[in-house]
Amino acid sequence: MAFINRKKTVEVKVGGVGIGGENPIRVQSMTNTDTADPIATANQVMDLAKAGSELVRVTVNTKEAAQAVPEMIKRARDKGYFLPIIGDFHYNGHILLSEYPETARLLDKYRINPGNVGTGKRRDENFLKIIELAVHYDKAVRIGVNWGSLDQELLTHLMDENARKAKPKDAREVTLEAMVDSALRSAELAETHGLSHNRITLSAKLSGVQNLIDVYRELSRRGDYPLHLGLTEAGMGAKGIVASAAALAVLLQEGIGDTIRISLTPAPGGDRAEEVRVGQQILQSLEIRSFNPQVSACPGCGRTTSTFFQEMAHEIQEYLKTQMPIWKNEYHGIEEMKVAVMGCVVNGPGESKHAHIGISLPGTGEEPKAPVFMDGKLYTTLKGNTIVQEFIKILNDYVNSHYGKKEVVKI
Ligand code: SF4
Repeated sequence: MAFINRKKTVEVKVGGVGIGGENPIRVQSMTNTDTADPIATANQVMDLAKAGSELVRVTVNTKEAAQAVPEMIKRARDKGYFLPIIGDFHYNGHILLSEYPETARLLDKYRINPGNVGTGKRRDENFLKIIELAVHYDKAVRIGVNWGSLDQELLTHLMDENARKAKPKDAREVTLEAMVDSALRSAELAETHGLSHNRITLSAKLSGVQNLIDVYRELSRRGDYPLHLGLTEAGMGAKGIVASAAALAVLLQEGIGDTIRISLTPAPGGDRAEEVRVGQQILQSLEIRSFNPQVSACPGCGRTTSTFFQEMAHEIQEYLKTQMPIWKNEYHGIEEMKVAVMGCVVNGPGESKHAHIGISLPGTGEEPKAPVFMDGKLYTTLKGNTIVQEFIKILNDYVNSHYGKKEVVKI
């Protein structure tokens, strides 16, 4: 794993999961089902957990949703899923948590957006009502600022104050400052009303990469609360993945961040768990945590025009794709395994030697033979029409002999 000097934060316990402190950087996700439907939401919570989400957040936006939370949690727990489930509250959290005490008791953490709890005198009153309930039920709280719903009174106040300065800052700087202030002031207010320092995590999400980096650097500089990182409204497909990875990589490399969520917009009918896999892959690519065995696959080029290579590479990669989730549940430490499937003699042997096990397939015009490397050394050279089947057998034997069998699968 890469050495990253992580910024020291306090540990916050959410259900049975620790965030911050010495804990690994956690991967979180959020459901997109109607929380009022406890079956659909419980199913999605379990799907996200199966994909590796260590905490799941659900929106609690209506009385029907608040009423359905206990059944949803029971369904997940009855199936053996004990990961923390977080309630996401906006506008009416103080009412819902007061009126549905079982929901308040069963949720593991409350997320409050200080920009969405009310205005004027009501803002602090409503916010403090949720804090009072969090203290009563001994719950952790995430104070989650979002620039789409930034506290407008605070922003106006800071803008006015800035305008009176001899050298005013630009509007962007003041807005970012307002986000940091909103999070820290709310945390301070919560603490002065009885919520322990180690029951608070913070986030300040924006949709612009540079803005997000600036805000989190400042949040990290000014406190030791665990930080939840995420680019809000990251978007769909490659754009959402790349933008999230670009923003989070900079912060994580600087040691900032204790938990992450990738806010991808799924394609219609798409898999919500994709956001979990992307989050894991970001941490794994930075060599911070390992979740899945990694395959280095050669992209192919003019040296791999033959269908012979393309079919072999495809078959091996498909096999690995199918086996990885199975192996992950069956073998200890397999998430550290690196496999290389390479296309020709140019980088094939070299890359294969860096992997635990690798095959260098014959490129166009090369002799139809494929050297297999194991732990950096040439293991054998495969020839003929059975290269794929033989390599798969060697791979299976390698997995069996190098990784201990797990007894029980627990989530
Ligand atoms: S390893 Fe060979 S086939 Fe693959 S991209 Fe490099 S040169 Fe092309």
